Amino acid sequence: MLESLIGLEVLWLLLPVAAGTGWLAARKATRRTTRKRERGGLRSDYFQGINYLLNEQPDKAIEVFIKLIEVDSETVETHLALGNLYRRRGDVDRAIRIHQNLIARESLSVSQRTGALIELGQDYMSAGLLDRAEDLFSELADDADYRVQALRQLIDIYEREKDWPKAIASARRLEKATGNQLGWIIAHYCCEQASRHCSEGDLERALKHVQQARNMHAACVRASLLEADIHAERSEHERAIRSLQRVEEQDPDFLPETVGRLYRSFQALDRIDALDDYLSKLMNRYGWTSVTLTLADVKRQSGGRREAILFITERLRQRASVRGLDRLLDLEIEDQRDIGGTREHLQILKGLTAELLFERPVYKCRHCGFPAKSLHWQCPSCKHWTSIRPIQGVEGE
Ligand SMILES: [Zn+2]
Repeated sequence: MLESLIGLEVLWLLLPVAAGTGWLAARKATRRTTRKRERGGLRSDYFQGINYLLNEQPDKAIEVFIKLIEVDSETVETHLALGNLYRRRGDVDRAIRIHQNLIARESLSVSQRTGALIELGQDYMSAGLLDRAEDLFSELADDADYRVQALRQLIDIYEREKDWPKAIASARRLEKATGNQLGWIIAHYCCEQASRHCSEGDLERALKHVQQARNMHAACVRASLLEADIHAERSEHERAIRSLQRVEEQDPDFLPETVGRLYRSFQALDRIDALDDYLSKLMNRYGWTSVTLTLADVKRQSGGRREAILFITERLRQRASVRGLDRLLDLEIEDQRDIGGTREHLQILKGLTAELLFERPVYKCRHCGFPAKSLHWQCPSCKHWTSIRPIQGVEGE
């Protein structure tokens, strides 16, 4: 069904061109009797195509019509549109054939050939033939007229291949070509390199890339979090705390990412009172649920379970939160001796809050709406950087 729909859509595109080509050929043929047979062939192909169409065999009809359309300056656009259509529908092999066929024609102007090359490069990318696409776009990037478009494609390729040094070099060239600052994206590429060194245990090199990221973009939250993790790994908790406390100025949306790390570092330094002060300020300014719940942990550590319960209850009066209620129920269930079935009632309620929170996305891309359960610095769906953020509201932060 889908195939026949695709076919029909393509045929609407082709019919006028095929008919036009037939008419032109017919007009030329009346002038030159030597071309009579050619005209006859063209007409019979044309009617054969129509027949296929009427017999609901759109695939065969398409093949006939494509052969029928001569590539010349007037039909190049049709071939390009047709190739595009096939690529969008996922028929990449056919798109590649059409674009390669187009490029092979000598009658094309320079700009038409370049347009076809860009399309072919995109076909290669859709087909996952990244090496071929890279060769093609690298060549086009040397052409001033197509540099910007080609560099954007190259950056896409290097991001997919996780070739961060090449991604950085291309982004710098794109910055120069457009005048738009891309430091905030280049900082992510530096952080990607830092993460790789971290996972290999080379913290010294990781730290160098984090520093590069900060030089590229002073407000890079990811660099601050990475730097804090490296310092904490080396038990340099004062430094880790300084890195984490930068995040409020950089982008307060990411404060929930800092609180667990802050708790561990303040605890390691045995300065839990100082953390109480800092988190209280953050809670009053931003009201994030993660901040409130970490503060409840601090209260529990310093003043016991009852103090934590009173603190969360007070907060829930001011700001409804399913996660807050869930934590409160945990604390109450721990606290209750089973008098008159109270514990059972609390457990039923706890089952409800757990159900509400189960497998709930905690993050969402503010560009395309992609929901995620963990933080991605690049949206897996729309590929934007830093667009995934914690969800706010009763069920989120
Ligand atoms: Zn997205």
